[in-house]
Amino acid sequence: MLTLDEIASEIRVCTKCPLHTTRRNAVPGEGNPHARIMFVGEAPGENEDEQGRPFVGAAGKLLTQMLEKAGVHREDVFITNIVKCRPPGNRDPEPSEKEACSSYLDAQIEIIRPTIIVCLGRHSAEYMFTKYGMEFPGITKARGQAYKVDSLFGHFILFPTYHPAATIYNQQLRPTLEQDLKRVGEIARDIHI
Ligand code: URA
Ligand code: SF4
Repeated sequence: MLTLDEIASEIRVCTKCPLHTTRRNAVPGEGNPHARIMFVGEAPGENEDEQGRPFVGAAGKLLTQMLEKAGVHREDVFITNIVKCRPPGNRDPEPSEKEACSSYLDAQIEIIRPTIIVCLGRHSAEYMFTKYGMEFPGITKARGQAYKVDSLFGHFILFPTYHPAATIYNQQLRPTLEQDLKRVGEIARDIHI
């Protein structure tokens, strides 16, 4: 099995989908290889593309702050996205792009074997639900709930919540996201599956 660093090296030179032609830097993801909590966003934005690091723009700063409030340190978790290269103009990634990129996320999950995977936003949640054979009831219904998943490497919890960027545009969602992240911290501390 490859290491996380080896996967990141492959991602940085990947040409498996057209997003490689417009990226400045691929964004493999970063964090603790032994993380119990893994965060999966949708795709890198402009700042991430510039720096080659996930969640470093406004949404990322908010996420980092909220995690601290929830007693979770960013350096203890692993943060990545469904697709590793920025879609031009921040458009939604195409299904074919998600498909092309999926083996990297699969490999990262298999190596890290997190207790809980937090899907940030509707796109991430819908993708992960579908991938693990579950019907997605929509982000409003699904968010804040722990869904048990059986995978080839064992059990984990899928936990959808709002995307931090959504709570910049709609500040009313922010307390809910904060509450969900607190719950994530509790689950990661308490549950041993
Ligand atoms: N939004 C995402 O979904 N991912 C990032 O890495 C940054 C913003
Ligand atoms: Fe490769 Fe994924 Fe980037 Fe497409 S988005 S070029 S599949 S790393």
